[in-house]
Amino acid sequence: MTSAAVIGSGPNGLAAAVVLARAGVDVTVYEGAGTPGGGLRTVPFGPAAASLQGSAGRGTQDRDAQDHGTQNRAVRDVCSASHPMVLPSPFMKALKITQRVDYVSPEISYAHALRPGHAVAAYRDLERTAQALGPDGEAWKRLLGPLAARVDELISVALNPMVRVPPHPILTARFGLRVLEQSTALGALRWKGEEARALLAGVMAHGIVRQPSFAGAAAGLTLAATAHAGGWPIPLGGAQVLATSLLQDIEAHGGSLRLGRWVESLAELDQELILADVSAKGLAALGGDAFPASYRRSLGRVPYGPGVSKLDVLLDGPVPWVDPLLAQAATVHVGGTAREVNRGENHIIRGGFPERPFVLAVQPGVVDPSRAPHGQHVLWAYAHSPHGNDRDQTQTLLGTLEHHAPGLRDRIVHVQHSSAAQEQAENPNYVGGDISSGALSAYRLFARPVLARAPWRTPVKGVYLCSSAAVPGPGVHGMPGFLAARTALADAGIPLPGEFVGL
Ligand SMILES: Cc1cc2nc3c(=O)[nH]c(=O)nc-3n(C[C@H](O)[C@H](O)[C@H](O)COP(=O)(O)OP(=O)(O)OC[C@H]3O[C@@H](n4cnc5c(N)ncnc54)[C@H](O)[C@@H]3O)c2cc1C
Repeated sequence: MTSAAVIGSGPNGLAAAVVLARAGVDVTVYEGAGTPGGGLRTVPFGPAAASLQGSAGRGTQDRDAQDHGTQNRAVRDVCSASHPMVLPSPFMKALKITQRVDYVSPEISYAHALRPGHAVAAYRDLERTAQALGPDGEAWKRLLGPLAARVDELISVALNPMVRVPPHPILTARFGLRVLEQSTALGALRWKGEEARALLAGVMAHGIVRQPSFAGAAAGLTLAATAHAGGWPIPLGGAQVLATSLLQDIEAHGGSLRLGRWVESLAELDQELILADVSAKGLAALGGDAFPASYRRSLGRVPYGPGVSKLDVLLDGPVPWVDPLLAQAATVHVGGTAREVNRGENHIIRGGFPERPFVLAVQPGVVDPSRAPHGQHVLWAYAHSPHGNDRDQTQTLLGTLEHHAPGLRDRIVHVQHSSAAQEQAENPNYVGGDISSGALSAYRLFARPVLARAPWRTPVKGVYLCSSAAVPGPGVHGMPGFLAARTALADAGIPLPGEFVGL
C-alpha cells in the first residue's frame, strides 16, 4: 500500500488527503496547530493562543473547539466565515458536500454600506438586485447575468485553469472581456450612479490587490457571479464543520490526523508521497537543499501582498446598523463609494493605514443563531493592512463600523484583535498576514508558485505543493488540494477514484 504524508490540515490539505485516502493510499495528516482546519477553524471566544497552539494529540481542548453550536458559549471563525466557492467547487460537488455540511445561503449575498443610512445589496435574485439599482439595474444584469447563469462552468474554468484547451470558450471569452473592462478606470463608464459601482468595488476588493486591476476584477467578477447563483453560504455551526466533515471522510477511508506536529523538514517523513499544505516560503524551508537552487530561487520570488487586521466581537445585541438593510445581510462591506474603497485599498498596498479602511464583516447570526448564547451576537470583521504590521487596529475598525452603526461600542461584551503579524504567527501560511498566501496578479493566477504545466509538482520525486499557494489560489474550495493529489496519484500510477474523474 502506498503511503502519503499531508503537511497541514487546511481545506486544501484535507481535500488532498480525502482524494488520496479514497484512492486507497495510507494517509497521515500532520497539523502543527492544536486545532485542525487551518482557515476553517472555529474556536470559542477567548485568547486565541490557548486553543490554537501547543497540545499534541487530540486533547479535550481541541474537541471543545469543535463543540460549536452549543448554546452556552459563543464561537468565532478564526479565518474564513462565508464560503461562496464551496458550492460551485468541482471537488466539493463531487464529494456531495452539501449532503454532509449544512450551508445556508442568505437571500442577500452581500450588502454594501455607502453612507450612514444608505446601503445597497446584491440579492441572490439578480432581478431584485437590478430593480434596487435603479438606472444601473440593466447594466448590472448585462455584466453579471450571463456569468451567473453559467456559474458552475465559470467556476470550473476559474478553479482549474491549467487545461490545454479551455472548455466553455464562449463563456471564458465573455468573462475575459468583462474582466478587461473592469480592470481599468474605464470600467466605471458602465455606471450612471454610485450604488452599482460601489457594490462592484466592494467585491473586487476581496482580491487584496491594487484597484482597479486584472486580478481584482477577475476575483471580483467571479465572486459577484456566485452571489447571484448559489449565493454566499454560511456553514451552520462555523467553518470548522467543513473541516470536521472532511476529516471524517479521511478517517472513514483509513487515514489519520496528528495534531500539534510542526514538520520542519521533508527529511522527517518517510512516506512515499508528501503533499505540503504550506506557503511557497514554507515549502522552500521544508525542502531546503533537497530542492535545486533554481527552484528555491523561484519560490523565493513569490510576492506577498498586504495582510489583514481582524476583529472578533461578541455583542449583547445585533449590530445597530442605521440602514435596516444591513441587518438582514450576513456579509456586509463597509466601504463608502467605489472611489473611497479603491483609494483606501491602494493606500494599504503602498504601506499606509487609511483612517476609514474598507471593512469586510460577517454577522453569522443572521442565519445561524447557534454561534452565541441567546441574546448575544457574533461579529467577524477584517480590513486589509500593510504587510507584516503589528499595529492594533481595534479602534480604527470599530470606528469605521460605528460610523454606520452608532452605539456599536456600547454593545461589546468581548472584542479581540489580530494584527497581520499575529495572523502569520498563528498560521505560517499567511506570510506577513497575507491570507492569499501569495499576492494575486494576472501572471500569478497561473504561475502559482511557478509557471509550469503541473505547478503542484516539485523537482523532488513524490513531493507536491497542495495549498492555496498553488493554482488556483486562495479561498475555501479545496481545488489546489484536489489538483495536487490528482497529480501525485497519476505520477504514482494509482487510479483516481471514480467520483473525481473528469473534473
Ligand atoms: C482572516 C481570514 C479570513 C478569511 N475569510 C475567508 C472567507 O470568508 N471565505 C473564504 O473562502 N476564504 C477566506 N479566507 C481564506 C481561506 O481561509 C484560505 O484561502 C484557505 O484556508 C487556504 O487553505 P489552505 O489549505 O491552502 O491553507 P490553510 O487554511 O492556511 O491551512 C494550512 C494549515 O497547514 C498548517 N501548517 C503549515 N505549515 C505547517 C508545517 N510545517 N507543519 C505542520 N502544519 C503546518 C497550518 O497550521 C494550517 O492549519 C480567509 C482567511 C483569513 C486568514
